[in-house]
Amino acid sequence: MGDDFVIYDCVVIGSGPAGVSAALNLKILEKNFLWIGTRSLSAKIGKAELVKNYPGLPDVTGEELTKAFRAHVEAMGIDIHEAMVNMIASMKDHYGLTAGADFFEAKTVILTTGVAAAATLPGEEPLLGRGVSYCATCDGGLYRGKTIACVVSSPRFEHEVKYLAGLAAKVYFLPTYKNPAPIADNVETLAARAAGIEGEGRVSGVKLTTGETLPVDGVFCLREAISLSTLLPRLATEQGHIAVDRRMATNLPGVFAAGDCTGRPYQYTKAVGEGNVAAHSAVEYLAEREK
Ligand SMILES: Cc1cc2nc3c(=O)[nH]c(=O)nc-3n(C[C@H](O)[C@H](O)[C@H](O)COP(=O)(O)OP(=O)(O)OC[C@H]3O[C@@H](n4cnc5c(N)ncnc54)[C@H](O)[C@@H]3O)c2cc1C
Repeated sequence: MGDDFVIYDCVVIGSGPAGVSAALNLKILEKNFLWIGTRSLSAKIGKAELVKNYPGLPDVTGEELTKAFRAHVEAMGIDIHEAMVNMIASMKDHYGLTAGADFFEAKTVILTTGVAAAATLPGEEPLLGRGVSYCATCDGGLYRGKTIACVVSSPRFEHEVKYLAGLAAKVYFLPTYKNPAPIADNVETLAARAAGIEGEGRVSGVKLTTGETLPVDGVFCLREAISLSTLLPRLATEQGHIAVDRRMATNLPGVFAAGDCTGRPYQYTKAVGEGNVAAHSAVEYLAEREK
């Protein structure tokens, strides 16, 4: 791994089984790569009560599998950069990635982002960049002294709500999970869910499942997944999954994908196998490029 100013050989996005496998293989293949995800790896591994189809680990629990994955990456000296990638842009012969306030560059990208559990809200996509944001640290400064709503899918993002509460005058906190933590005095936690985002050309309110509309200046959607079209425009998809060939190559040169994001069956061993293939294909692509 290098510092922020290098162009990495590869960036792996996502820390589920597919990302773990891609990262392990890139390390073995001695590539200079960056792995972006979460140190807790993947909520989907932890949640499995009993896994009966993982070769060599009969009746392993999701928690045990998480521990085994984590011990393996730690033993290999691999770090995870804790962040969500908000956007990937083509920069002619490589890619630029925005993750929170950070920007990275890489010659190849391996997408292992899982399946997006949360659909976007009505009004969200047309108002993206016009009051809708996915990144607290990038856009928080625009809402100093204003009123905002935060639609949040995981306790993992509560620190971002706290950060926004330090800037905004008032925050409506709309968690989509149970038992959210208290955040700050100017944060009102609502039991209702967000049903849509309203505004003509710019966000003016967030509609709740109760039918009420709260007037707000901005809405932060902080989720475990970002829609593929937002993450990487021009990426070809098939029925909501990333279209790949047998090398796990997408339609974009140097971009590979693995795991649930490429389609069914949604299974650990498929994810691990595809992560392995994607890493090898990225390395072959790098070798071809250097010729
Ligand atoms: C309750 C439950 C039980 C299951 N039981 C089994 C079983 O018994 N056997 C089996 O084979 N499978 C089982 N599965 C399915 C299995 O969990 C999935 O197939 C597997 O986790 C897919 O791995 P993945 O790496 O593709 O994606 P995921 O595990 O979903 O990981 C994706 C990762 O990417 C991260 N991410 C997403 N977007 C971004 C971004 N923009 N920037 C940074 N990070 C990002 C996410 O936070 C997450 O960490 C189960 C699933 C569940 C929910």
